Amino acid sequence: MKKKTIEKIPFLGLPKVKRNKSVEYVVVTAIKEVGREECLFLEAYRNRKDAKKIPAARIVIGGKDFGTYFPESGEWSRGKITWDAWSANSFIWYGNARSNGSAKHAEETNVLYSPEDMERIKGFTEGMEVYGGKWWRLVLWKQEDIRRNEYDERDRRKRERRQQALEDRKAHTEKLPEKRILEYADKVLFHEGHYLYYKKHRARADVACTGCGNVSADVRWKPGDSFESRFEKLIEEPRSGGYGTCPACGARGKYIPKGRAKNVSRIAGHLFLGQKYKDEGAVVRYINVEKEWRIELTCGEKDTKMCGVYEKLTGLEIARTYFEPGKEPQTDYQKYNPYDGENFWDDCNLGGLSNIGIHEAPIMPETYGNLKDTFLRYSAIETYMEASQRYCVNLKDYLKEYIRTPQIEILVKLGLTDIVRKLIKSECGIVYDLKAGRLDAFLGIRKEHVRQLVSHRGNIDILNVMQMEKRMGQRWTEGQIEQMAELRPGYIKHALDYMGIRRFLNHVAKYAGCGYGTMCERASERLRQTARTYIDYLDMRQSRGYDMTNSVYLFPRSLRAAHAGMVEEINNAKQDERMREVREKYPLIKQNYRKLRNRFYFEDDEFLIRPARDAGEIVTEGRTLHHCVGGDSYLLKHNSGESIILFLRFKEEPEVPYITVEIMPDTLHIRQWYGAHDKKPDKDRMRRWLDAYVKRLKSGRAAIEQETVRQALTTA
Ligand SMILES: [Zn+2]
Repeated sequence: MKKKTIEKIPFLGLPKVKRNKSVEYVVVTAIKEVGREECLFLEAYRNRKDAKKIPAARIVIGGKDFGTYFPESGEWSRGKITWDAWSANSFIWYGNARSNGSAKHAEETNVLYSPEDMERIKGFTEGMEVYGGKWWRLVLWKQEDIRRNEYDERDRRKRERRQQALEDRKAHTEKLPEKRILEYADKVLFHEGHYLYYKKHRARADVACTGCGNVSADVRWKPGDSFESRFEKLIEEPRSGGYGTCPACGARGKYIPKGRAKNVSRIAGHLFLGQKYKDEGAVVRYINVEKEWRIELTCGEKDTKMCGVYEKLTGLEIARTYFEPGKEPQTDYQKYNPYDGENFWDDCNLGGLSNIGIHEAPIMPETYGNLKDTFLRYSAIETYMEASQRYCVNLKDYLKEYIRTPQIEILVKLGLTDIVRKLIKSECGIVYDLKAGRLDAFLGIRKEHVRQLVSHRGNIDILNVMQMEKRMGQRWTEGQIEQMAELRPGYIKHALDYMGIRRFLNHVAKYAGCGYGTMCERASERLRQTARTYIDYLDMRQSRGYDMTNSVYLFPRSLRAAHAGMVEEINNAKQDERMREVREKYPLIKQNYRKLRNRFYFEDDEFLIRPARDAGEIVTEGRTLHHCVGGDSYLLKHNSGESIILFLRFKEEPEVPYITVEIMPDTLHIRQWYGAHDKKPDKDRMRRWLDAYVKRLKSGRAAIEQETVRQALTTA
């Protein structure tokens, strides 16, 4: 927007105020030329006689830009005429907020001066279709259209810049030493493996070697008896999976019987190659190499014959990560375009399942020399590979982590390779203070323990204990640290609320019945398990409010018995609480008991049935029989009289739950009945018993007529 030019253009002025008192703003429009561009001017005047000269706001819209000028403050805004055309809380022109006004209200209070103004707006926004043809909606659409084009343009420029950067990286990337990579991969990934396909016949065999491609016919593997045969060359006996020597080229290879040979076998692996990039930078290239063995057969007289064998190595670069000083590492990926069948480079990964992963792989040895000429020369990657005795590493992640944490160099040189490995995997909680210069401060451990950590090659369990010691302001001996590490810290932290570390460690060993440092995984696991149980026990004791300075509670004679005792105590406490709660919540169950008993009680020689005495009894019934009747929904229904819970029990054991029945008091329909674990014990007989019981209830006879029921049982 040419703001200065626009500010110099005189205001249009409001010819006349509107009579209608509810109108707050009147909008006058004009088309004006600003720097050879036609612009739409919309000036909003307050509907007052004294405000006819200077508008409250002047909106100017050009072909590619728009803005709103507020003469009173002299400020410009890039805001649109309303912030949301669909919101009831919209306000017309920016800065004129009507928090509670509706769109209709806004329309009534913000009007155009004349029909010509509407025509002007329509003319300027030609081609825009807006529902209802509201003038301010047309303005808004024009403004949004301009914004959209701007974003598209910005996007296009961004894409172009990214594409240029990608091309620049490609142009500055060295050529891949393909032959060397294939040779190295063959040696390291495939161990120069060849296949010797064979077909035995008596003392001889046909052998086809993928190393040289020769098919040697009738080679003797078993020494013959004749004089001449002693001078014949012998090969190892071909046995599936064994190794032999090619009679033609002398290469070693794995024997595979012809009959079991697949036409093609493949193995794939990956390699990293680091190279110099531009002045000080480096590029890490991740390459997939595939080895393929192939056998070709033709029809022979009786059988197929081996006529040709090949092996082939192919390589494909999958990803490149560029490292430059002061820049974020950038990874480019080679992708496949299914439309033209070509591969191409792109600066972002594929999303979702087809995501291209970069994993651990061997590093080509020239990488170390190449990196010496770059800003990554002190990354100590070569030392790391040696010291950690590792064969594979994720070089990209290692260098990324080195840039973030240059202290890796020191860690590697001290032999703390376990810690470095965790760092490469971006595991958190390793580094305490990234900016620290000293190792102890960097890791958050006591200075005097650095040597011990180094002697354990940065063992993570040891480190965790040392970090915990420092954090808790403790001072532990080397032996205690090692014992704690064997228990694996983390959860044992608050055991030290109850006692000192020495007593804790000793008691764990005593309860476990085995010592520390045996190097026996079963003993270690037993110690860990015991420590967990012990802490669990201590926590339960404390939560029940016991005096945790009393050594009787702290150090029980039998940990297992004491733990079981606490579990039971806590369960009982929970039950008591639930009983109290439900009795309070559902008092009507108890109050109505007498009444319900008169109606529903029944007994015969074997069984009795009765309603629950109170809510607590229903809870106990549910717990004993392991079904859900003790839950709130049944209690609520019984309490309100919607359904009744009845207990059916053996007359011999009237206090032992057997079957629970839910019955509808109005219809006397049995909604459900269950024994333990939601099962129906003695199903057929009990159903008949219940049917007879309901029948009896329905007949409404007050007297107990056992005879009726007995008849029902025998006739059914
Ligand atoms: Zn050969």
